[in-house]
Amino acid sequence: MKKKGPNFIEQIIEGDIARGFDKKNLRFRFPPEPNGYLHIGHLKAICLNFNLGKKYNSPVNLRFDDTNPEKEAKEYVDAIKHDINWLGFDWDKECYASDYFDQLHEWAIILIKKNKAYIDSQTSEQIATQKGTPTKPGQNSPFRERPNEESLSIFEGMYKGEYNQGEHVLRAKIDMASPNMLMRDPVVYRVMKVSHHRTGENWNIYPMYDWTHGESDYIEQVSHSLCTLEFEPHRELYDWFLDAISPLEGIRPKQREFSRLNLSFTITSKRKLAQLVEKKIVSGWDDPRMPTISGLRKRGYTPQSLKNFAVTVGVSKRENVIDASLLEFCVRSHLNEIAPRAMAVINPLKIKIINYAKQEGEKINFDINPQNKEEGKREIIFTDEMFIEKEDFQENPEDGFFRLSPGEEVRLKNAYIIKAVDVLKDEKGGVTEVLCEYDPKSKSGTNTPESNRRVKGTIHWVSSKKAVRAKINIYDRLFKVEEPGKNETIENEINENSLITKEAFVEPYLSNAKDGQQYQFQRLGYFVKTDNKKTLEFNKTVGLRDGWKK
Ligand code: ATP
Ligand code: MG
Repeated sequence: MKKKGPNFIEQIIEGDIARGFDKKNLRFRFPPEPNGYLHIGHLKAICLNFNLGKKYNSPVNLRFDDTNPEKEAKEYVDAIKHDINWLGFDWDKECYASDYFDQLHEWAIILIKKNKAYIDSQTSEQIATQKGTPTKPGQNSPFRERPNEESLSIFEGMYKGEYNQGEHVLRAKIDMASPNMLMRDPVVYRVMKVSHHRTGENWNIYPMYDWTHGESDYIEQVSHSLCTLEFEPHRELYDWFLDAISPLEGIRPKQREFSRLNLSFTITSKRKLAQLVEKKIVSGWDDPRMPTISGLRKRGYTPQSLKNFAVTVGVSKRENVIDASLLEFCVRSHLNEIAPRAMAVINPLKIKIINYAKQEGEKINFDINPQNKEEGKREIIFTDEMFIEKEDFQENPEDGFFRLSPGEEVRLKNAYIIKAVDVLKDEKGGVTEVLCEYDPKSKSGTNTPESNRRVKGTIHWVSSKKAVRAKINIYDRLFKVEEPGKNETIENEINENSLITKEAFVEPYLSNAKDGQQYQFQRLGYFVKTDNKKTLEFNKTVGLRDGWKK
């Protein structure tokens, strides 16, 4: 791959180092909220942070921003950890914002004591009507000048569970006229009598994400706090919160924002992906059509191809939409290098070679991977009865059809040249079997004049006497529109052909395929062995070429 120059984040870090920032103090983090599975968008943030860790030999924390127990669960924590490990990254500390709940609570009390926060006893609707608009200042709450002692006492009551959800909130006292709406006295704590997947029933109040996130970066001494562009206006608030609890010791995190990864034909919003799961449009978060890391893994994507994709996309501040074909290209390029080859026939049509006499058949050698000859050879048995793809035979060939048709010759890959001489049909006139003759001297690689004879087409095959059955799931893009989810009606945007299941015949050596192993089925595309224990099953990963080019 082309070596890229430093991205703008790296330039910022280099600048900081040049101005005297001690390299030893560099620390990064990836801060997911455990309310869903990681998706291809997160991949960008993961690669950015962990690659910085590698580049500067500095620690990268995995921090779960678990401030919203209603939506979060341990299942998501476990899936996120598994996915990051699978990508090949190791975090330094495994952190949870919930581990800082005590500290955040203490700091909240300091805010009140410093007259920087107050208890508002209005309803959330009332608070919302006072927010104003970006061009119109908001109104102060009637509780804004409530004595600090009173706020402290109510906050204590909230903490002890004496109030119900919605009765009171703690708000930062900033500026209801600020042009930055986030600075208009944001809520810092709310009453929420919900069990948390880590702290159980300990808390009756939970800190808001904005209060938690920036403080957590500071607690962990993250030097460069990297997030997506929509958090740019939050920076002012995080700074205000840090100033409010100062004096600070150690490092003050520097937040910088980069653009989100948007991919055509793909949804990169956990909320919308959750809808697909809840409405059972897909089989789960790890459905092979989902743009989740776990879905892509089941689809046969490799960690290397995903990381190559992230590097190719790069990091910038410009919002754009990446073509889904680029991701597929990265997967295809990597699989071309590493995937063993195999033959499979997905829409079988039987052929019989009437002049082939060897009962036991004969062994034909194939490269396991022509891109890497060292991987050696595999043997395939050639017999008088074969399956070829239905599409490789036409009784009345259309113009430009160069594969098998009556009277025409074609080569069976790595084996003999055959000619169709007759067809057998069912009562409806459908072709059930093609009778062929082969040229015994035309065997590939024997270097006879007949073997070097050129025919217009080469097709793949499996012996119908030796091949094994396999179930094949042919996946395609989940959405048929370029910007799914734009209009909230994702159900209507689903590609009805995104999963087609077939009964195929595959080379016998595939019956020993390991779960998760990818193969190139010659002429058909890349496929991965699933972990289905009952049947031999493969998922289609990606085609051999871009089938979506306009
Ligand atoms: P979603 O919109 O899917 O819920 P999120 O931003 O709420 O995403 P988090 O779990 O909070 O999800 O994200 C963890 C980190 O991943 C954040 O730093 C966030 O900026 C980053 N991230 C999320 N989506 C993308 C994306 N599409 N491109 C790049 N980074 C992303
Ligand atoms: Mg988020």
